[in-house]
Amino acid sequence: MVALADYPQIAAGKVRQLHAVDDERLLLVASDRISAYDHVLDTPIPDKGAVLTAMSVFWFELLADELPNHLVAHDDPRIPAEVRGRALLVDRLTMVPVECVARGYLTGSGLIDYQRTGSVCGVSLPDGLVESSRLPEPIFTPATKAEIGEHDENVSFEAVAAQEGAELAAELRDLTLRVYARAAEHARECGVILADTKFEFGRNAAGDLVLGDEVLTPDSSRYWPADGYEAGEVQPSFDKQFVRNWLTSEESGWDRHSDTPPPALPDHIVEATRARYVEAYERITGRSFADWPTAA
Ligand code: ATP
Ligand code: MG
Repeated sequence: MVALADYPQIAAGKVRQLHAVDDERLLLVASDRISAYDHVLDTPIPDKGAVLTAMSVFWFELLADELPNHLVAHDDPRIPAEVRGRALLVDRLTMVPVECVARGYLTGSGLIDYQRTGSVCGVSLPDGLVESSRLPEPIFTPATKAEIGEHDENVSFEAVAAQEGAELAAELRDLTLRVYARAAEHARECGVILADTKFEFGRNAAGDLVLGDEVLTPDSSRYWPADGYEAGEVQPSFDKQFVRNWLTSEESGWDRHSDTPPPALPDHIVEATRARYVEAYERITGRSFADWPTAA
């Protein structure tokens, strides 16, 4: 029996860890931690790591005819029992250091850039767009990875071309937009708007460009309920809205613009949020979360 401690940890993000299995394989471990308003909360959401892992696997499978990916297995003797269900065995890639973002709707940093310049990452957009507007067509808005604790920085296509070469930049853009379109179409059929998403690509041992990291999870994407969508206001988040509402309510007593970390979440918010993640998974995949393998 393998233990997670047998695999050296090679990186840790805010909510995930990366371990080396051997020279060719890595283990991508998702925790139950959740972030909101730029803070990782002290209260975990039970099963969140497993739900996101299950969702990633669904999308890798659905997109496999579109492009290759790094997934080797999600239920395998090389995956330690303690992280079963929330860990993916993947091919070790040499990552392309570009966050490949596709946006079909205008919000977040895209909206801020648009309001300042009329464009996002050098893509000029028509006048009159507002918070959550649907874009005339999805756009590629790459970003470069920031140091820990900093926000990723939006950059132009030309900046990616200067860094990675024009050919690879065009390939990243085309793949990103193609996969986004395919995923957004599927989500829409399930009553969910995929407002935007971020992919990471890398090269495998054979030198092929493949899809890496997690894909199309609520942590790497904005999912909005299609029901009630209306441009002009901030859309509720399919997964995090209970957490956000509670944190900004009087009941929490928290001021999100202060330096104080957010308070612990009450049980009913934790439970409602867990149910939202499971609902998102089941809606989008048509699969039952009860069938997903869980930790021993
Ligand atoms: P955060 O997302 O919390 O801001 P982060 O991006 O550093 O921080 P994670 O997203 O948790 O941390 O870590 C995943 C890391 O693993 C990323 O740096 C990603 O590029 C890398 N990665 C994903 N898939 C592979 C792979 N197959 N081979 C090598 N590295 C990978
Ligand atoms: Mg990351």
